[in-house]
Amino acid sequence: MNTQNYINNTWCDAESGKTFDVENPFTEEVIAKVPASDEADINNAVAAAKTAFGDWRQLTAGERKDYMRTMADKSREHAEEIAKTISSEMGKPFGDAVSEIEDVAEYLEYYAEMARDHVGRIVAPVVQKSMSLVRYEPYGVVGCIIPWNYPLSLMGWKLAPALAAGNTIVMKPSEVSSLSILHWIELVGGDMPPGVMNVVTGLGGEAGEALVKHPDVPILTFTGSVQTGKRIARLAADHLKKVSLELGGKDPVIVCDDADIEVAAKGSAWGGFLNAGQVCTSVERVYVFDSIADKFIEALVEEAKKVRLGDPFDKGTDVGPMSSKMQFSKTINKVDLAKKEGARVLTGGKKSDQFEKGYFYEPTVFDQVTSNMEIIMEEAFSPVIPVQRIKSLDEAIAMSNSTRYGLGCTIFTRDIERALTAADNIQAGTFCINSPLMENMAAPFGGMKQSGIGREHGIEALEEFREAKHIFIDYDHSNKDWWFGNNGD
Ligand code: NAD
Repeated sequence: MNTQNYINNTWCDAESGKTFDVENPFTEEVIAKVPASDEADINNAVAAAKTAFGDWRQLTAGERKDYMRTMADKSREHAEEIAKTISSEMGKPFGDAVSEIEDVAEYLEYYAEMARDHVGRIVAPVVQKSMSLVRYEPYGVVGCIIPWNYPLSLMGWKLAPALAAGNTIVMKPSEVSSLSILHWIELVGGDMPPGVMNVVTGLGGEAGEALVKHPDVPILTFTGSVQTGKRIARLAADHLKKVSLELGGKDPVIVCDDADIEVAAKGSAWGGFLNAGQVCTSVERVYVFDSIADKFIEALVEEAKKVRLGDPFDKGTDVGPMSSKMQFSKTINKVDLAKKEGARVLTGGKKSDQFEKGYFYEPTVFDQVTSNMEIIMEEAFSPVIPVQRIKSLDEAIAMSNSTRYGLGCTIFTRDIERALTAADNIQAGTFCINSPLMENMAAPFGGMKQSGIGREHGIEALEEFREAKHIFIDYDHSNKDWWFGNNGD
């Protein structure tokens, strides 16, 4: 596969000739080198995207749909090849990686069709014999900055609505998962007009910041940490760019005393340990009613012990290694801090000793946690679930709202009054009842509070990539009585 930058449908090294290593987190071997790009490469990509915008924006939505359908078909055709790259590069079980490619195909199809319907509206005329059209127009070159935990799904969330709206794009993949996006564009992107989709690999502080600061990039869509999101917002403010930020979460799960304990334990374990806890809407803390806490915690610990760690390519593997050495070290530090602060490890709490190599961390459950501990207040992005006991729904709501995050929340209960009272009062962009981590391509996804600005999915995502223009049409063509000298004064 090609491991260079993709600019104007041409493969090229970084102008500096510099590269950085991509490591397989299962074997700990370097599997490729990709360009360590900087401002010069970003300038080339943005120039190509800006030129391509002239023609791409003029196409009808139906013509753009044809291009996007072709990419959806090719994504499915090459799903297994691309999924192998995802699994090798960031350790995700192969079956989960294949699902990511299906996601990309579905997003391409969904937004290609949606953009044909939602082009604008006609509003009531302000004077007789006139019309007011509201037309939605693309911004131009969209800068897409993508994380590593779902490299292709999250690419699709941005790319599909941005292209359907008539924009061209420059993507900066995460340094941990550049190969996945390069491989996808190599196998899928070749029929697109030159310059419409460009990929520049590199470090966040170099290639990423050059893209954020580029004066010809009027809009940025970013998924990643709160810290980087704030940095991007500050830099973008200098040019008053539009920014859409999908940031971290600290999603709570509330387990009520009427919930089925097995269902709540299995659901929480899946939501907390899937993808080694590296999901923005992972279960990051559990609040369980005191009266069922002992039974629930016992069941959750059992579920954690059942999770099968292993080779991402083994069919029996539930969870692979953490995606990188850096993420693995962060997990070790976060768990060690929680222990020092007084949390009690019920299971896990250490790297797995099942394997000689690979960044495996054991699924971990804590109790005896208190609300001021970092493991309760800050995103762990790790296979770690801290559990706290609560006495009432009001207490659960207050604790759920106690962090700076507001991405998602789940409640397990059979009581609709409790469920909807919690939904009314908890600040979260997604609220799930009885099944965590659920999302729907047709429903908005995003964060409240410091979990982000803007929404992906649904019509809301298309709107992020367009701005409204009012076109006023006078079909009377006469002298108006409100013009100078015509009002009889
Ligand atoms: P990160 O912020 O470290 O990096 C994300 C991307 O930003 C990478 O491509 C990186 O190279 C780039 N970047 C880093 N510094 C930059 C800078 N100064 N300027 C421009 N670009 C820069 O995040 P990560 O570790 O890759 O991803 C994990 C985080 O992403 C977690 O906090 C997680 O919750 C969040 N996330 C959020 C969502 C969501 O939809 N809300 C989805 C997935 C992940």
